Amino acid sequence: MKKRLREELQSQPVFISEQLIKRYYENFSNRTIWPLFHSFPAYVKYALQDWEAYQKVNYMFCKTVIPLIKPNDIIWVHDYHLMLLPKLLRERIPNIPIGFFLHIPFPHFDIFRILPQHREILDGLMGADLIGFHTYEYAHSFLVSVRRTLGYDNTIGQILLGDRIVQADVFPMGIDFSKYSEATESSVVQDEIAKIKEKVGERKLVFSVSRQDYTKGIPNTIDAIAKFLEKHPEWHQKITFMLIVVPSRGHVDHYMLLKTEIDRLVGKINSQYGTLDWMPIIYIYRSLSFEELAALYASADVGFIIPLRDGMNLIAKEYLAVKNDGGVLILSDMAGAARELLEAIIVNPYDTAELVDALIKALQMPVSQQEESNKIMRARLKTYDICWWVERFLERLDEVIYLSKSLSVKFFDEESKQEMKRKYNESQFRLILLDYDGTLVPFSREPGRAAPDDNLIDLLQKISSPSHNEVVILSGRDRHTLEKWFGYLNVALVAEHGGWVRTNPASAWTSVTNPIEEGWKKEVRPIFNLFFDRIPCSFVEEKDYSLVWHYRMADLKSSSIAAKELLDVLTNLTANLNIRVLPGNKTVEVRNSGVSKGIFFSQYLLHKNADFILAAGDDWTDEDLFAALPDSSFSIKVGIRASRARFSIRSYRDMRALLSQLED
Ligand code: UDP
Repeated sequence: MKKRLREELQSQPVFISEQLIKRYYENFSNRTIWPLFHSFPAYVKYALQDWEAYQKVNYMFCKTVIPLIKPNDIIWVHDYHLMLLPKLLRERIPNIPIGFFLHIPFPHFDIFRILPQHREILDGLMGADLIGFHTYEYAHSFLVSVRRTLGYDNTIGQILLGDRIVQADVFPMGIDFSKYSEATESSVVQDEIAKIKEKVGERKLVFSVSRQDYTKGIPNTIDAIAKFLEKHPEWHQKITFMLIVVPSRGHVDHYMLLKTEIDRLVGKINSQYGTLDWMPIIYIYRSLSFEELAALYASADVGFIIPLRDGMNLIAKEYLAVKNDGGVLILSDMAGAARELLEAIIVNPYDTAELVDALIKALQMPVSQQEESNKIMRARLKTYDICWWVERFLERLDEVIYLSKSLSVKFFDEESKQEMKRKYNESQFRLILLDYDGTLVPFSREPGRAAPDDNLIDLLQKISSPSHNEVVILSGRDRHTLEKWFGYLNVALVAEHGGWVRTNPASAWTSVTNPIEEGWKKEVRPIFNLFFDRIPCSFVEEKDYSLVWHYRMADLKSSSIAAKELLDVLTNLTANLNIRVLPGNKTVEVRNSGVSKGIFFSQYLLHKNADFILAAGDDWTDEDLFAALPDSSFSIKVGIRASRARFSIRSYRDMRALLSQLED
C-alpha cells in the first residue's frame, strides 16, 4: 500500500489509527467544524478529546511533511481538516511559502466564536502566507473574525503580522472545463445517454445530484417537487425528477437520520402520484461514474441545485460545462457558485413557492434564452477553469512572499548609518521629518505627561540649527499641546497627523482643509461614549480632525476585547462616512479620510525638492508618510515590525542617538 501510494500516486501517506479517525475525522472535522462552518450551529457536537485528536493529527501531518521539504518548495495546505498545520509548519520552517485554501464557507463571527478553540484555529491559519476562499463573503467573515479575536486589522485583505504579511484573498474554484465540455464525444457517455433516453422518453428531465448531507437541501428539493406536482397537475406524466444521492459520512448521526427522511419523502410522493408507467422521482442512492454523471448532465433539461449552504458547488458548474445546447440551471443563492453563475435562476432554497415558480420558469424558458444565458456562463467557466484557479493561487502566493520580503525592513546597521551620514554631509537642503510619541519619547500611561525632556529639546535645537536643515515634527497630538511643548523652537509643527501646520515660531497655525469637515463626529461620538462608559479608566479625546478612544490606563484584557469590538462596529457602521478608522498603540482613532501624514507631505513638502530626506515614525499613521516619500529617502521604522520604511531601528533611544550623530 505504502509503496503503491509512493510510486504510482507519488503520495506520502499519513496513517492514523481507527480511534483517531473517529475523533479527528468523523467527530471534530465532520460533527464540529463542518456544521459550524456551514452555519448549522444546532448540529454542532463538541468534545475536548476530539479537539485533542484534531491537534494530534495536524501535528502528525506536520511531522510527515517536514522531512520531505526540499529547497525552493512551497506548501499548499487544503481545507478544514488541517487548519492548524500552517502554523505548525511555520514554527519549524520559518521562511517557506505556505498557502492555505478553505473549500467550505467561513461562517459569520457570531457563529465562528461558538467554537471554544476559535482563536487557536485562527492562529493556526495565520501561519500561512496566503489564505484563499471561494467568495468575498467568506474572506470578509474571516477578516472580521481575525480582527475581533486576534486584534489584527487589514488593508485589502493584508494583515501585517510581525515581520511578514498574511493575505486573505478570493479564488472561486473552477472545474476541468474541457473534460466536461468534451464528455459527450465518448461512446461510453453516448451509451449512457441512450439508456437514460430509453427510461425517460420524451418527458422533461430535471436532475439533482448531491452528497447525502444536511447542507445540500435534499428534503427541500423533495418538498418543492411535492408542491410542484400538487400545484401543476398538467405536468403529471410529462416530467421526471432524477434524484441522485451519494452516500456520505454514514457514521455521523445527522447523516443517518437524513437518509431515513429522504427515503420516506420520496416514497410518499411516488406512491401518491406514481402510475404503472410513470414514477415522478427516480431515486438513486449511490455514487455515479464520471460517464454516468456526464450523460445525466447532457440529458437533463433542468439542473435543480438548491443547497442550504455550500462553499462552492461544482455540480452546477459541471452541468453547464456539459450542456452546449440549452438547459436551465436553478441554483441556490446559498452556494458559492451563485456569485459567479449570475445568469442562472437564483433561488432561496427555503422558499418552496419560489422554487416551484423557478421550476415552471425553467421548463417554459425558450431555448434561445437558455442558450444565451449558458453561453455567457460557459465562457466564464472556460476562462476561470481549474488550471486558472491553481495558477492564480500560486501566482498570488508568489506576490505575497515578494511583498513580505520587501516589507520586512532592513535593520539600520553601521553601513547604512555611514551611507546616511555621507548623504547628509553632501546635501544642500535637508528635510528631517519626525513623529513624536514612540519615536522620540516612550509611550506614557497618561498622554499629557509625555512632555519632552531637556535632552530632547537640546537635540531638536541641535539638528534644527544648520540653516539648510528643516525639521518637521509630525504628530497625532493636537496643536495646543505641540505649541506648548515646541512653540519656541525653530521647527515646523504638524498636528493631528497632518490636519494643522505651523511652519515657524513666527507663523500662525493653518488648517489643511477649510472648513474642517466634522459632520461625521455626530455619528461616531455616541459610539465612542458607549465604550468610554463601559471601560473604566479609558477616555475619549476630541481633536479638530479626529476622535480618539484611549485605553492605555484601562484593564488590559477587557479593554483589548472592547477595542476589537469598537473597530468592528466602526468599520461596519461608518462605511459610507468620509473617515478612516485607525487602530493605534492602545488607541482607536477615527479621522477625516483626507488627512494623513502622507497627504501632508505630498501637498506641502514634496515640492521643496530636498536632496536629503530622513523620516522616522513608529506606527500606522507613519506608514502613509513612508509610502509617499521619494525612494531615495531614509525612512526609518522605530520598532522591529513589517513596514514600508527602508530601515528599522530598535527604540526611541537609538533614534535619538542617530539624530545626534548626524550633527556630530
Ligand atoms: N460526483 C461524482 N459522482 C457522483 C456525484 C458527484 O463523481 O455520483 C462528483 C461531482 O462530479 C463533483 C463532486 O462529486 O465534482 C461534488 O462536488 P460539490 O462541490 O458539488 O459537492 P461536495 O460533495 O464537494 O460538497
